[in-house]
Amino acid sequence: MGLFTKPIKNLDDLFVHTLQDIYYAENQITKALPQMIEKATNPALRQGFETHLRETHGQIQRLEQVFTAINQPVKGVTCEAIDGIIREAKEIISDVDDVLVLDVALAASAQAVEHYEISRYGTLISLARQLGHHQVIALLQATLDEEKATDRKLTELAESRINRQAA
Ligand code: FE
Ligand code: FE
Ligand code: FE
Repeated sequence: MGLFTKPIKNLDDLFVHTLQDIYYAENQITKALPQMIEKATNPALRQGFETHLRETHGQIQRLEQVFTAINQPVKGVTCEAIDGIIREAKEIISDVDDVLVLDVALAASAQAVEHYEISRYGTLISLARQLGHHQVIALLQATLDEEKATDRKLTELAESRINRQAA
């Protein structure tokens, strides 16, 4: 339990906490993606990051709609996991010299981010269903679909063009 976080007593608290966690994470991602765009050489990878940065801004707005729909203030709590994933991405990026290897490393780091998001949105949807917050399921599902599509795009990119160039 974090020192300044509210105790989580029931599923409602867990739902709100998870919402705050992913709200923080999405905001950190909007700060990290511009640096990844800057480092990417492959045009498709670069464009993929740019598209996902735009989507991420929309995802933040959806989360704000979810907070409002359940009468909760829009608020984030520190997500140690996303901070760690982003820190690790930056470390790896600074260790790679070859630009083609760097593209593969960027795609791999981005996939770690997507997988974290996919797990959180999956949990949120399942909790929303259990708690009867049916009005927010479509919002959360729309974002989950975007995260999964991004993950698939990154796999395709990594397996085709980028990896072939780097080999
Ligand atoms: Fe996201
Ligand atoms: Fe987290
Ligand atoms: Fe994402």
